[in-house]
Amino acid sequence: MLARRLIERKRDGGRIDPGEWRALITAYTAGQVPDHQMAALLMAVYIRGLATEEIAALTTAMLHSGAVLDLAHLPGPKIDKHSTGGVGDKVSLVLAPLMASAGVIVPMISGRGLGHTGGTVDKLEAIPGFRTDLPLAQARAQLEQIGCVMLSQSAEIAPADRRIYALRDATATVESLPLIAASIMSKKLAEGLSGLVLDVKQGSGAFIPDVARGIELVECMIGLGRAHGVPVVALMTAMDQPLGRACGNALETEEAIHALTGDGPADLMALTMGLGTEMLLMAGLAATAAEARARLEDALASGAAARKFQEVIEAQGGNPGVVDDPAMLPQAAECELFMAPRSGVVVQIEPRAIGQGVVALGGGRTNADDVIDPSVGFVIVAKAGDWVDGGEPLATIFARDRAGVNEGRAVLRRAIIVGDEAPPPLPLITHRVTEAGVERYAG
Ligand code: URA
Repeated sequence: MLARRLIERKRDGGRIDPGEWRALITAYTAGQVPDHQMAALLMAVYIRGLATEEIAALTTAMLHSGAVLDLAHLPGPKIDKHSTGGVGDKVSLVLAPLMASAGVIVPMISGRGLGHTGGTVDKLEAIPGFRTDLPLAQARAQLEQIGCVMLSQSAEIAPADRRIYALRDATATVESLPLIAASIMSKKLAEGLSGLVLDVKQGSGAFIPDVARGIELVECMIGLGRAHGVPVVALMTAMDQPLGRACGNALETEEAIHALTGDGPADLMALTMGLGTEMLLMAGLAATAAEARARLEDALASGAAARKFQEVIEAQGGNPGVVDDPAMLPQAAECELFMAPRSGVVVQIEPRAIGQGVVALGGGRTNADDVIDPSVGFVIVAKAGDWVDGGEPLATIFARDRAGVNEGRAVLRRAIIVGDEAPPPLPLITHRVTEAGVERYAG
């Protein structure tokens, strides 16, 4: 009865008060509100929006739907990073072990693929045996031992986000500023953090493509952090083309391993270093950006970051040998090169079409209980603005059968435009947003 009343009120543009949000989220998490009612409410929120106080109340209700990690006994800064979602965004797989190898405690909770974007959890689970659903006691012990754990939302921690996240994915209610803010901040605030760095995407592949609305989203999340005593810094970053070259779960995990072992693509490395620098500064482990970068470069060059990833993989049930031999990751049955249709400049590599293409190949879900194929996707070697010769390879399609290859070819024909002139792509990092306000990113 409560849910129906709240759906009706939100449908008509009314407000839901904090006690009602708490009661609703508690009942939903306990299985007393069916998915069809929550889906209707999510659509009403998508259309009507939420007032700032409602976002705060929803976030707090979702945060307390499960346990909150208490890491006070662990000496050292607990800092995490979260992205608002992009295509080819495998930064978390590189950054979490990199930061842990540099002395930061990283209790990372992530999600699965959402809409046209991939999810860190699906990428990690491409590693045979890797478990993201560790019991909390085990996660805590792992943090004590190796300083990094990479989890999914679970029945124990952020359970409301786990269910609502999957429901939004299946009901076209992902692209909502209040729902994104509550989803991200409820699980991040459950991690017991001393600070959070956000990567807020802008451009056609982002959930909130518009810069002004992106900054509104950041300011909302900074306010949610402040209310819970967690400082938040955000970088506004480009999502007008895929990040790196690989798009698809196992392919992205392989690229993340290459990044950790010294062979990552330039844009992935630059973004990882930019976010990592913010994390080290926030942790108080570097006094200047230059010092932070030097520490991160050292952790990569010495092999410490790659070894830390092996420790995380081993602790979470996977085979750490995958870091030395990425061919142990699932391999697609079919692959085929995709050639430039003509000579010219790469005008566009449309990230949303690429992300939807990965889903169409079986690498993402259209229903909450779909089983994904980790091996499929694309490796796109061209970048917007590059000159290419007609017939030169632009990408490789990885599929489970010939029908998938054909589908992948059709996707790339739509997504990659070669022409005579290209507008300049977005700079990789445009703004830095803190409590103090918005500044142009200086690097
Ligand atoms: N990441 C999340 O965790 N939730 C969202 O809604 C979008 C990105």
